[in-house]
Amino acid sequence: MGTLFVCATPIGNLSDASPRLLETLAAVDLIVSEDTRQIQKLLNKFSIKAHAISYHKFNIQQKTAFILDVLKQGKKVALVSDSGTPVISDPGYELVNQALSKKIKVEPIPGPCAATAALSVSGMPADKFVFEGFLPKKPTERRSRLKTLSIEERTIVFYEAPHRILKALGDILLNFGDREVSVIREITKKFEEIIKGKLSKVIHHFKEAEPRGEFVVVVKGLETRDKRPETKKEIEEDALIEELIKTDLSKKDISKIVAKVFDVSKNDVYKKLI
Ligand code: SAM
Repeated sequence: MGTLFVCATPIGNLSDASPRLLETLAAVDLIVSEDTRQIQKLLNKFSIKAHAISYHKFNIQQKTAFILDVLKQGKKVALVSDSGTPVISDPGYELVNQALSKKIKVEPIPGPCAATAALSVSGMPADKFVFEGFLPKKPTERRSRLKTLSIEERTIVFYEAPHRILKALGDILLNFGDREVSVIREITKKFEEIIKGKLSKVIHHFKEAEPRGEFVVVVKGLETRDKRPETKKEIEEDALIEELIKTDLSKKDISKIVAKVFDVSKNDVYKKLI
């Protein structure tokens, strides 16, 4: 059995190619690349001669079987995407998963990834975070996904295309409220920029300056103190609790009444009260 090297490549600045990446690309028998023209630029810059074949969403089925055969012959294969880390919103999952299930050795050659690079300069907490990749393109699906995410307490990372960034930020504002956001664009490139502030301010910025290039959007998670009631029923429940607190009823009695009216647990209402 050979080895499948999963190789991260630069996301803009070719000097981010690590010595280990270049050694691996020079040593493998085959490079499997999302677009062979992209990897050729890197190979040319570092004068590496290598054989590359394409591997993208339109030929995954047929190429996966071929690449697994090459690996079974004991050959070394490098998987790369157009930029950054393969599999992260990029092709490669199928190949890695099948290689592992066939007991083929899989090794990462770690390096650039737009999500982690953006997060590292976002000024947002990153001890815990969620990576959402691209939001759905259809407005109804996008809004429904954002509604689900609106109660997420961890920092959220999105990828977005320049022609959709304003729409996406607008929908995030609608569903999340005016939260803190960092938009990081053109990472490691000439026009690299970090735009940080409330969503409304960042939207205003992009209305003035047309969004260009590649973008990562990092949104602050929901803070506990900002937690809003989820449903109309909960809003009404909270309103009744507030009214009853003003009377001289005991907490126990208030819990009983609210539980009966809204068909919820007495204990949950009591916990809310204290
Ligand atoms: N696998 C890649 C990675 O590890 O980052 C991501 C590939 S995904 C198809 C491409 C998206 O990543 C872009 O639309 C953009 O959202 C983000 N991206 C890639 N390079 C970037 C850069 N230099 N600056 C900002 N965002 C970038």
